[in-house]
Amino acid sequence: MKRGLCDTCVHQKLIKNTRGSTFSMCERSKTEPEYPKYPRLPVIECRGYVSGSTR
Ligand code: SF4
Repeated sequence: MKRGLCDTCVHQKLIKNTRGSTFSMCERSKTEPEYPKYPRLPVIECRGYVSGSTR
């Protein structure tokens, strides 16, 4: 799926709802309120981005 930067960011968490849709959640939002819990995708620029995931 194309979610921009979030797809390769260590802070991304994928959440599945009961209807089988998957949402990209930003775990930085838990401790840093300036990050939206569910960012508008695709994220093209994010200063909180940390490369790491290989999904
Ligand atoms: S820190 Fe930025 S790039 Fe990483 S998951 Fe959150 S919104 Fe996406």
